[in-house]
Amino acid sequence: MVSRVIPVDPFDLVVFGATGDLARRKILPGLYRRFWAGQMPADSAIIGAARSEMTVEAFRAVVREAIDEHVSAEKRDAATIDAFLDRVDYVTIDAKGEAGWPSLKAEMRKGMVRAFYFSVAPSLFGDLAERLHKHGIADAQSRIVVEKPFGHDLDSARALNATLARHFDEHQIYRIDHYLGKETVQNLMAVRFANILFEPLWNAQYVDHVQITVAETVSVEGRGAYYDRSGAMRDMVQNHIMQLLCLIAMEPPYHFDPDAVRDEKLKVIRALDPVQPQDIVRGQYRAGGGQAGYVDHSENPDSTTESYIALKVHVSNWRWKGTPFYLRTGKRLRARASEIAITFKEPPHSIFDDEKGWRENVLVIRLQPDEGMNLKVMIKEPGPGGMRLVQVPLDMSFAEALGENGTDIPDAYERLIMDVIRGNQTLFMRGDEVEAAWAWTDPVIRGWEDRGDRPQGYDPGSSGPEDALMLMHRDGRRWREIRD
Ligand code: NAP
Repeated sequence: MVSRVIPVDPFDLVVFGATGDLARRKILPGLYRRFWAGQMPADSAIIGAARSEMTVEAFRAVVREAIDEHVSAEKRDAATIDAFLDRVDYVTIDAKGEAGWPSLKAEMRKGMVRAFYFSVAPSLFGDLAERLHKHGIADAQSRIVVEKPFGHDLDSARALNATLARHFDEHQIYRIDHYLGKETVQNLMAVRFANILFEPLWNAQYVDHVQITVAETVSVEGRGAYYDRSGAMRDMVQNHIMQLLCLIAMEPPYHFDPDAVRDEKLKVIRALDPVQPQDIVRGQYRAGGGQAGYVDHSENPDSTTESYIALKVHVSNWRWKGTPFYLRTGKRLRARASEIAITFKEPPHSIFDDEKGWRENVLVIRLQPDEGMNLKVMIKEPGPGGMRLVQVPLDMSFAEALGENGTDIPDAYERLIMDVIRGNQTLFMRGDEVEAAWAWTDPVIRGWEDRGDRPQGYDPGSSGPEDALMLMHRDGRRWREIRD
């Protein structure tokens, strides 16, 4: 199967924070890959901007290094890299000062799509937005891309939305959640809404429960102080996991249109019940295996911030009343694995004398590693041994199903940047969505803060705290094994 690459319109993209970690690891290598694939037109321009005094040549050397480090060898040919670097420029700018802005203005060309990627600390978003306007660099068609975290709570998210709204309309603001750029996440919508097979079963009558797992092996080392002010609930649940939950639980939108999709996601967030204290388990990884523990990494011996959280959540609407959604995410776990598992109910009556009993159908959507889908179904065990049943996976790994193109799935960032240039906001969070997510998250956090709860310790390389197992066991269910 050959995937089609449709070039976007030529653009001028300014990357604020172009010397930072995100730009070097994701944004610049991603743009190069789109250039290599023929999607980024050759007359587009990428303008790096940061405070560091740097010549264009020095910045191009930074970009070359980022490409060498983060782009696979078969896509790195000297001629393409040189042609790409030729499209790269640099301007020294302080978001909080006036110097550099006239030079940036001089770089912008008429008739190009104009986009500004704010890959800087959120505290600078307001300064950038204001100066882009003040210096006449942004116009009514320009787009801005803002990174997470989008606020720390409802009040700060509202304040941030209000700041951006002073200079940009909602249709110009692209709040990035890179989970939405993953191939499998978008495929979730295709599977649900482009097939007749699943949708009739996609409700509380047929779905026993849903599990969403985002497990990481990394610790918070190196960003412990930042993480300690955030924790797993703010860092992962309020945004990434909430978005996944929305895509599973939402009603079919009337059309695959940005606002139609986002309206339906918003309804899911608003239908979430408050979480009961007994349905929350928080954990913190201990020291172990010669490695430091969370409190060492956070440099806060009294920290009560969670590096792990598991929650049982209910979506109170006609479709989902009675089907629990179990969510969990954590650092320093046994494997790096993100997946959504939809467990269907057993058939109402067994006609087989199968001693093993029934096993449920499970649809597993893997986000990483090895993006793909897998449906567990019961079949007859092959052979003459009578009617014995066995559960087998109907496996659809994208790498296998799509041949060469399957192994070449664009990174979420590069896909999303192309959507910004196309002006398609479907995979970006709308302001009211972000606020609704915080409105649900805030009382959960306030609840454990008021109760003075402390997270339970868990061993590095484990599946998380013991109590998280109990969260499922007491409902007669089990977490799926975390494995890569
Ligand atoms: P970083 O490595 O600290 O880089 C920050 C960038 O901002 C640098 O290029 C810095 O360059 C520039 N900068 C700082 N102050 C500035 C100012 N006053 N005016 C203009 N430029 C300024 O941060 P990062 O990790 O790349 O993160 C950038 C944003 O992405 C943050 O909002 C972060 O939360 C978000 N994010 C990052 C990741 C990630 O994996 N890194 C993941 C998700 C979200 P100079 O010092 O030269 O100015």
